This record gives sequence, structure tokens and C-alpha cells, in this order.
Amino acid sequence: MHTEHVIIIGSGCAGSTAAVYTARADLKPVIFEGMEPGGQLTTTSVIENYPGFVEGIDGFELMSRMKAQAERFGARFEYGEVKSLRAVDGHFEVEVQGRELLRAETVILASGARARMLGLPRERELTGHGLSTCATCDGAFFRGVPVTVVGGGDSAMEEALFLTRFASEVHLVHRRDSLRASKIMADRLLAHPKVTVHWNSQVVAIAAEGDAVSAVTLEDTKTGARRQHETRGLFYAIGHIPNTDFIQPGLVPLDGEGYVDTADVVTPTPGLFVAGDVHDRQYQQAVTAAGEGCKAALEAEAYLSARGS
Ligand code: NAP
Repeated sequence: MHTEHVIIIGSGCAGSTAAVYTARADLKPVIFEGMEPGGQLTTTSVIENYPGFVEGIDGFELMSRMKAQAERFGARFEYGEVKSLRAVDGHFEVEVQGRELLRAETVILASGARARMLGLPRERELTGHGLSTCATCDGAFFRGVPVTVVGGGDSAMEEALFLTRFASEVHLVHRRDSLRASKIMADRLLAHPKVTVHWNSQVVAIAAEGDAVSAVTLEDTKTGARRQHETRGLFYAIGHIPNTDFIQPGLVPLDGEGYVDTADVVTPTPGLFVAGDVHDRQYQQAVTAAGEGCKAALEAEAYLSARGS
């Protein structure tokens, strides 16, 4: 059975950068793109803090360029979601839905994280019918109508500001009385004439008319008082859950929230490296994910060369 030198799980900033480096090292990496090819940056709007792009760069374009750059050096991107990752006799077995079992000498885990949900009834059926976790994907469907964004971090600021282009009003619902977001983003949001912030508030129920969101019930987190708030769009921006469910138990240490719990890109399992949001719960930036993808690739290269591969 053929054994790949490197399989990279995930094609976001971390995985794609690891692909560029391992491809340039002639390791012929295979990258499984996952459910969201290009990762979370493909669902964001303009990225203003990735060095080198003075005017900013569209997230989708940045990821398309990284992929093309890696392909230029021989990286192979495959559409597919990894269902399991196991260590067997000094190599790794990677199971991808609908394909033969794959083997690799090294694996770079760059599977990222997915949007967190509030866990309210009807979320699943209303997703795509007024409920969304991606303003850049769905914002244009909400022209001239009021929308509501939940969250107080940078993602919520970005989503809310993006939605001001389309919506008649943008309501931000935040559970505390101060924002978690960086000052520049928070200031931009608070100064926007279309935006109203509902402080100390949380969404406790979603109402629908027909099959689409029509209102939410807001609860005051201090007094418990409830009120109905009409909205046509409801956007969650309340953080992420790491994609680690497919990893063989015990292969890498996970923390209480499921993030890979290692200090850096090297894991306790020889040949297994990690990069990006799947373990970085602190910085979560495009440039830090890219940096980790580079480090993981260099570690994989050193590991393979020490093995004589
Ligand atoms: P985040 O910083 O973790 O913020 C999540 C927000 O959601 C917090 O305000 C949190 O409230 C709220 N929240 C979490 N669970 C909730 C729940 N069950 N109900 C109601 N509210 C809930 O996540 P993020 O905004 O996705 O950002 C993640 C990282 O990416 C950060 O490091 C951020 O700086 C970075 N990022 C940067 C940019 C940029 O630089 N342009 C853009 C996007 C993201 P509390 O505040 O009360 O905890």
C-alpha cells in the first residue's frame, strides 16, 4: 500500500501554508480540504491585517492564491472530509469518506474550527432561512430589512459592519456591558449610524413566520426581563468549536473544549504536527495560522529527513 510523505488535514491558512512549504521541499503533500475548502477566511470579507496587502485583500482571493501557490510546487488538494485519523505501526491511517484508506508518514493537523451555535430549538431548520453564521455569504439576501448579530468579539463587529451595506438596521446583541472586540473594530461599530447595541442581552428563542426567521426573544442578563425583537436575519458570531472529533482518542492531548492542547506545533505523537485554529485558542489570526503552518511543515520535513525518508 502506498504511503504518502505528508497528509495535511485542512486547507485554511495553516494547512495551505504547510502545503506551500512541504511542496517546495518536494514532499508531494496531499491536502484534504474538508467541509469548507480554504477555511474560514473564505467566508470573511476584506482582510486588512495580513501583512503586505496595503488596501486589504478579499479572504477568498487570499486562499485561492495560497492554493495556487502550493499547487505550483506539486501539492495535491483533494475534496473530502477526514472521518478518522489513527496511528498504526509508525505511520498514520487517514480515513476519508468514500475513499480507500490512506497512509502517511507524517500528518499536519490543520482542521480549524467551526462556528458555535447557541443551541436553541429550530436552529438547524432555520439555518439558511434567516439564520446564518456567515454574513459575507448570506448578507446580500437581507437588503432593506432589519438584521441581528449575536456576539461581542471581532467577528461580531466584522459581521455587523458588513451587514450595514445591505440591511435597513443592524442590531448587535451582546451578553455583557462591554465588548470583547479590539478597539479599532469596536469604535467603528459603535460609530455606525445603522447599528444599535443591545447590552446585557441574550437571544433565548427564535420565532419564525412560515419557514423563515421573523423575530427573537431577548432576555436581559441582569434582570431576566424578556422582550420580543423583530428581525429578518439572525447572525451568530459567538466563537468557534475546534474540529477534532475525528482524531483517535489519546493521539493528541485535548483541552476541555476539544482544542489540541500542545504548547507549539509539535505533538507528543512522533510525526504528528498541528497548526492553526485547531489548537490556537489565543491568537486565531490569519498570519499566526500561516506562521504555524510553516513551522509544522518544517518540523515534518526535519522528522522525515531524520527517518531517512
Ligand atoms: P471571540 O473573540 O471568542 O468572541 C466571541 C463572542 O461571543 C464574545 O463576545 C462572547 O461573549 C460571545 N459569546 C460566546 N458564547 C456565547 C453564548 N453562548 N451566548 C452569547 N454570546 C456568546 O470570537 P471571535 O469574535 O470569533 O474571534 C476569535 C478570534 O479571531 C479573536 O482572537 C479575534 O480577535 C480574531 N478575529 C480577528 C478579526 C480581525 O482582526 N479583523 C476578525 C475576526 C476575528 P463574552 O465577551 O461575554 O465572552
